[in-house]
Amino acid sequence: MSSGRPEILFPLFAAVSGLKGIGPKTAALLTHIDVEAPRDLLYTLPHSVIDRRLRDTVQGADLPATLTVEVEIGQHRPARNKGGAYRVMVEDAQTAFQIVFFHARGDYVSKLLPFGARRIVSGRVEFFDGMAQMVHPDHVVLPDEANTLPEFEPVYPLTAGVSQKTMAKAASDALDRAPDLAEWADPALVKREEWPGWRDAMTQAHAPQGTADLSLDSPVKRRLAYDELLAHQLTLALARAQSRAKPGVSSVGDGRLRRKVFAALPYKPTDAQMRSIQDITDDLEKTQRMNRLLQGDVGSGKTLVAFMALLTVAEAGGQGVMMAPTEILARQHLESLQPLAEDAGVVLELLTGRDKGAERKAKLAALARGDIQILVGTHAVFQKDVAFDDLRLAIIDEQHRFGVRQRLELGRKGLAVDVLVMTATPIPRSLALAQYGDMDVSVLDEKPPGRTPVKTALLSNEMMDSVIDRLRHAVAEGRQAYWVCPLVEESEVLDLTAAEDRFKRLRAVLGEGVVGLVHGQMPPAEKDAAMARFVAGETGVLVATTVIEVGVNVPNASIMVIERAETFGLAQLHQLRGRVGRGSAESTCLLLYQPPLNESGLKRLTTLRETEDGFRISEVDLEMRGAGDVLGTAQSGLPRFRIADLERQASLMAIAQDDARKLLQDDPHLKSARGKAARVLLYLMRQDQAIQLISVG
Ligand code: ADP
Ligand code: MG
Repeated sequence: MSSGRPEILFPLFAAVSGLKGIGPKTAALLTHIDVEAPRDLLYTLPHSVIDRRLRDTVQGADLPATLTVEVEIGQHRPARNKGGAYRVMVEDAQTAFQIVFFHARGDYVSKLLPFGARRIVSGRVEFFDGMAQMVHPDHVVLPDEANTLPEFEPVYPLTAGVSQKTMAKAASDALDRAPDLAEWADPALVKREEWPGWRDAMTQAHAPQGTADLSLDSPVKRRLAYDELLAHQLTLALARAQSRAKPGVSSVGDGRLRRKVFAALPYKPTDAQMRSIQDITDDLEKTQRMNRLLQGDVGSGKTLVAFMALLTVAEAGGQGVMMAPTEILARQHLESLQPLAEDAGVVLELLTGRDKGAERKAKLAALARGDIQILVGTHAVFQKDVAFDDLRLAIIDEQHRFGVRQRLELGRKGLAVDVLVMTATPIPRSLALAQYGDMDVSVLDEKPPGRTPVKTALLSNEMMDSVIDRLRHAVAEGRQAYWVCPLVEESEVLDLTAAEDRFKRLRAVLGEGVVGLVHGQMPPAEKDAAMARFVAGETGVLVATTVIEVGVNVPNASIMVIERAETFGLAQLHQLRGRVGRGSAESTCLLLYQPPLNESGLKRLTTLRETEDGFRISEVDLEMRGAGDVLGTAQSGLPRFRIADLERQASLMAIAQDDARKLLQDDPHLKSARGKAARVLLYLMRQDQAIQLISVG
């Protein structure tokens, strides 16, 4: 990874043990807070600050507080017994108080605070027994040494075995080694925001002069946060530029297939659907490769948009593939698209891991001949022996867990086609920018009309009997329901037991044949059969673990019961609820919970009751959980920002994206002065992926 690192950064990537006060032992401890180089120490900023400015008196201060005063030292009252308190009476300009020591040895205290002398003492003062006292002062200095006390003392995040003093000293040494770096940020932006340069910003960030300097809104913090965001966005922009630069195929459809489907649709596409279809058609027409994200809440109608894209390449004589994350979803796509494909007169086939033997061979042969225009399937569609005649478009459905890294890999696999990724998980803009910044984005922000809102209610699971009774009536009226069983942490076996128990109980009450069951460990064929019976309306209630979470579409299902709803995350609950409210019937979602609800559980469930707006829900989710959790840091490819806060600095992320894209547009190879500075930034921020892209490009 160090290959190509600019020399100017060498001191910042040297061994931490070379810093003042840090030996190999401390260096090892520091890795616990992800400090592996002086650079990391710079990016470990103080989280608070102690005001050590000298004041006249402790009187009138809001205790407890850390205070610094000059005192005259009075009587000593050594401890009467071992381990007792050694008290020293002192007087500041206005009042008397005590300085207290425990376990003081020998003449330590009398030397530190000689009777009758004057000293400046600094430490935490509190009330005890009606008297102000300072226990174990942090600093004791002579009055003429006042200037050796910092007015403001930074407080660093620590790890066991490393003290504040060690951190402060090492940080200060790292700052001394920090070079002046040429400016990589847009000069106009720097001017407008009144930002200091990188080195000054770092220096100031380690020497906060009061709490205002700790605020994320301070120019210093904003600047340093911006650097992190810019480095990340540059990486994404480089990936984007690289994938766009590769020659793609221009697919221009003549509209003949799409017209047939539009004419046969029983509904009118929403404006948002039309806009997205247009975005995609434009992309397909260009010789640059498409790399687009289609973001739309559950039920917003992404499938139609995807299908129109597939038809466009079919019109142009090419092939398209749509990949779903699960078998169930792939089959459902097949079922919903098959009639449309017939309207259009194109051949659509399904390919999953279950295709075997002669049948699979025949499908692959047809695909290779170009007799199949549209292929729907699971990961199986990208197996090595799957060859297309003329693949032009790959659509990846419901892949919100598909991170930047995996997308880049897809490109590396030589998938030289236009790519459309669809996600049903609305995520706040800042996160979308962070995770999908390499892509262009279309948003379905409008739901098809005629949906009745889902009524959501919170019920204690003590109400279970009456819930089951209501369910019995509803099923008798021909309504269908999902019953989602609780998640049992880290145990699929327990999940299963819970689901099977519930299944048996419901079957006992509602009758044999009325209740179906699907769970993750079922043999695939049984799962399909159970799903199929529910889709056909043969079963009225489907008991399920979260396998139904994504994508499943049964318009007649109008009741969703979620057991132990408090154990699910907000986004998951939103997805689950999205399974109902798809038809014209009034739908209900019952969130059963086990009392007492804790604060977070209550917030999640009431948020869900109050709104169906996926974006609103995702913002609450982000607020409650933080970015890494919302996206799943491990898979998201999101760096862990040390300073930037995605939740509160969304606008800064947007600026960083614009900037990064513009910089690369003007200077694709980062050759200009600013481009070179940006390279240094990438190394400084350990953006190894970006560095690879530069060295390749
Ligand atoms: P999702 O975005 O969750 O994948 P789907 O594409 O599965 O949503 O669409 C959900 C349902 O809405 C489907 O039954 C689909 O036929 C229907 N639908 C899609 N677009 C419209 C529209 N413009 N008007 C009415 N119904 C629509
Ligand atoms: Mg879908």
